[in-house]
Amino acid sequence: MIQRAKEMLEQYYGYSSFRLGQERAIQSVLNGEDTLCVMPTGGGKSICYQIPAVVFEGTTIVISPLISLMKDQVDSLLQLGIPAAFINSSLTGSETRERIEKAKSGEYKLLYIAPERLESYDFMTLLKELDIPLIAVDEAHCISQWGHDFRPSYQRIQRMIGSLPKRPTVLALTATATPKVRQDICRSLDIDENNSVLTGFERENLSFSVIKGQDRVKFLKDFIKKNGNEAGIIYAATRKTVDKLYEQLKKSGVNVSRYHAGYDEAERMEQQEQFLQDQSTVMVATNAFGMGIDKSNIRYVIHFQLPKNMESYYQEAGRAGRDGLPSECILLYSPQDVQVQRFLIDQSSEADRMSQELQKLQLMVDYCHTESCLQRSIVRYFSNEDTPPCGRCGNCTDSRESIDVTREAQIVLSCIVRMGQKRFGKTIIAQVLTGSKSKKVLELRLNKLPTYGLMKEKSTKEVTDFIEFFISQELIAVEHGTFPTLYINEKGKDVLLGKETVKRKEAVQTKQVAVNDPLFEELRMVRKEIAERENVPPFVIFADTALKDMCVKQPQSREEFLTITGVGQNKLEKYGERFIEAITDYLVQNPEQKDEAIKGSDSIEKPKKATPNSHLETYTFFKEEMSVEEIAEHRDLAVSTVESHLIQCMQEGMDVQMEDIIPDEYVSEIEHAIQQANGEKLKPIKELLPDEVSYFMIKVYLLQNERQVT
Ligand code: ADP
Ligand code: MG
Repeated sequence: MIQRAKEMLEQYYGYSSFRLGQERAIQSVLNGEDTLCVMPTGGGKSICYQIPAVVFEGTTIVISPLISLMKDQVDSLLQLGIPAAFINSSLTGSETRERIEKAKSGEYKLLYIAPERLESYDFMTLLKELDIPLIAVDEAHCISQWGHDFRPSYQRIQRMIGSLPKRPTVLALTATATPKVRQDICRSLDIDENNSVLTGFERENLSFSVIKGQDRVKFLKDFIKKNGNEAGIIYAATRKTVDKLYEQLKKSGVNVSRYHAGYDEAERMEQQEQFLQDQSTVMVATNAFGMGIDKSNIRYVIHFQLPKNMESYYQEAGRAGRDGLPSECILLYSPQDVQVQRFLIDQSSEADRMSQELQKLQLMVDYCHTESCLQRSIVRYFSNEDTPPCGRCGNCTDSRESIDVTREAQIVLSCIVRMGQKRFGKTIIAQVLTGSKSKKVLELRLNKLPTYGLMKEKSTKEVTDFIEFFISQELIAVEHGTFPTLYINEKGKDVLLGKETVKRKEAVQTKQVAVNDPLFEELRMVRKEIAERENVPPFVIFADTALKDMCVKQPQSREEFLTITGVGQNKLEKYGERFIEAITDYLVQNPEQKDEAIKGSDSIEKPKKATPNSHLETYTFFKEEMSVEEIAEHRDLAVSTVESHLIQCMQEGMDVQMEDIIPDEYVSEIEHAIQQANGEKLKPIKELLPDEVSYFMIKVYLLQNERQVT
């Protein structure tokens, strides 16, 4: 049966092999064994139940906690040509009944339901009438009170399974489960714990880094500017910060959405949609955002502030790079945020959980201060296992020089002592050090201090950056009164006394996560256009990995298109032609790009490419008076490929006559439209003409009349 499963993977999903753990989990399910599957986010858990669902007779039930997630999953399945539906509270009564009827007649391979359905007697009765080979419990940690998202209705699942006339196979899936939570899941669903498939917690495509003592807003803006085309999430700890960042980014021209619990449902949905549909590139949000977001092409997640524990951090940061492409997870650390989190814990926790929460917060702070591999600290936190250094994270790749700044530290610290501890904030301290003549400095006679102007060769901004850095090194502490004031820590005193030295590294340079590739941008537009038409998020049409693969292989026939990762039969039929056309057009306009991309990547097998003189062969057939469609059929090429061949022939001065391509009645109409559109763009010209006149005809006309086309 596993052979059958592999065929399904190729045929429906267009993937050539199973990933680590997938094959074992699927094999186990196909053998009818109840199984627990723990794989990191983006590891590919869905396929572990979707493929058995296709192989089995009957309807697989998937229990999933989130409405938005269900919809995306079902949309994705429908795109693959696998019949599926969901039933949850977002449907009207009659929609629900209709789907129930269809389910009864066996029309779906998968039926997604919210756990709350199990509280309805009617629904339980329906389930008994279905032929259910498999029950998949997604996000299974929701079963456990020890998990981070406990959902009481998850505890009804076992009773539901027990009430079915024939016990189906059960597969529980989760990304985050400590040993205790795993035990809970297995006990609650009656799964033998030995029957677990666990893959490591490591995410090999993510690079983690922690940035300390740098201007955060500046870092953020630089980063976003450098990665303007890529989607990213910025997490902040409070609603106020979200709103502030949103305004700042918007003002600097970023296409940004925002999300927090202060907005009503409709507003939140709208903002979320914008981001999912690639209409905005950046989402600024509190931790209220992201549960159930399956968007696979998120290239970075930046935590503007410290999250409350490692569980939240890894879950939020883990939303980057679900598609497996390299992605960045950056935490911008400032010690003040520890206070913010303490305050939030103080507000929300019950007394008995408080010390546990504070302990978890401390471990989060420790993560920010570790100098060894960050991915390894994360894995160790979750599994107590040691992995080798990842070689990708900020600490593994840090090659910055350290500069001794002990003298600067001493000047700043002694200035604070002289101004009086816990009296002033960093701005005025910096003003004193730079010798500012501001009204406040003069009024308070701070210009009389011996430390006044000791750093006058520096700007106030540079000095406040220094102060921030010393705060991050815990030489200086912040007292949070009506406004924050500074004082000196134990470690700071040692520095003042000359017992300790202070080293500072150069600022971390922002990096570009993905290289810009004009063909990729082109294909991204095509994907977006299709997604809008089909009313699904772009990543449901194709993942970034598929588009990248298209850039590398530059497929120009159906056969070549099928070799792209993520292209199965259904997607070939639905979108092949459109993408091949876009690629061919691109190559016609950028002939130097042809074959260029393939050189860069030796990891991907070179597909069978059309011979360089393929257009000459087309030319021969054309001269034998075959039509474009006939040539395409005969040569098993896309129509658009044949068209591009003929364009190439014309450009190379061969005898391809407009009259053989454009029906007479359109010639003058095309001329007229060109004059009316009055520009070099094809689209406005096309829009003025009847549908039968193709882009190809317009291009041929323009070429024949020696006009430039774009
Ligand atoms: P999870 O639920 O574990 O977070 P998903 O099931 O959403 O992960 O899968 C993440 C991404 O990986 C999806 O885009 C999916 O299509 C892709 N994927 C899964 N299995 C494979 C595979 N065998 N080969 C290539 N891509 C895969
Ligand atoms: Mg999942």
